[in-house]
Amino acid sequence: MTPDLARCVAEAYQVALPHRGQGRVADYIPALAKVDPNRFGFALALPDGTVHAAGDADIAFSIQSVSKVFTLALALRRVGSSLWDSVGREPSGSAFNSIVQLESEQGIPRNPLINAGAIATTDRLIDGRAGDAVIDEILDFIRARAGDDGVDIDRDVAASESETGARNRSLGYFMQAFDNLRHPVEAVTGVYFRQCAIAMSCRQLAKAGLFLAMEGRDPLTGEQLIDPHRARRINAIMMLCGHYDNSGEFAFRVGLPGKSGVGGGILCIAPGQGSIAVWSPGLNEAGTSLVGALALEHFAYAAGWSVFD
Ligand code: GLN
Repeated sequence: MTPDLARCVAEAYQVALPHRGQGRVADYIPALAKVDPNRFGFALALPDGTVHAAGDADIAFSIQSVSKVFTLALALRRVGSSLWDSVGREPSGSAFNSIVQLESEQGIPRNPLINAGAIATTDRLIDGRAGDAVIDEILDFIRARAGDDGVDIDRDVAASESETGARNRSLGYFMQAFDNLRHPVEAVTGVYFRQCAIAMSCRQLAKAGLFLAMEGRDPLTGEQLIDPHRARRINAIMMLCGHYDNSGEFAFRVGLPGKSGVGGGILCIAPGQGSIAVWSPGLNEAGTSLVGALALEHFAYAAGWSVFD
């Protein structure tokens, strides 16, 4: 039986709504600390162009680590499987900004969705180019998918990311010490800080993720953006690593590949079906939106969507 998806979205939103405000809003930079903890948006994008939305689905938020999915797709498209010389594909079981495994594993980060791995991925995506050209590529890609040229970087957030970025720079220097960085740390983190500062609404983000649900093809433009097997593999990595040391719990509860960011956004992919973006700023211990995960759990259950069916 085909589920009534509009109803599933409305129900998931209503079930999670009373929990708004729970969790801890990221406060390492002022621009994130001042976001209203009661914000909650939900958007489901379908391959036919339909979007079912609820709540604050049109308010832009800082996508933060959700950007790691897009740079991974672009880096794979640019340098192919040689990306895996620089970064692994195993869950880390540690915090998003952890440095410990880099020492025992010779400067090769566990996966592209933790900070160290995303910095290594951005390094490969740069591929000898100027930082501005790389940021333009990332923005152009996201804008085309979202069908919205208004998507942009929040300059305040980008500046704060850089001011508070000692730890991310340390990850870069540590990898450089092991010869696992091809460009200067400042060049790489310069792109990384800006990609984290991209601001998008749930509606835009859900549309931007659709290509991952459709074997690498943008169903809205018809373009084959990445090879189908690469889209499948990105989904596998999201499933196992998308929520840091909370990835097992998310897979257990939601059963779909996802990627969280400390801005409170989560992008969740239902292969063959659609793409979902949720946003609510209160985070759990691992930095995943508490209300967002709850809403996704209810939505996936109501729609009967799971990669394990
Ligand atoms: N900008 C944050 C950082 O690099 C992103 C972390 C996240 O969203 N988990 O630490």
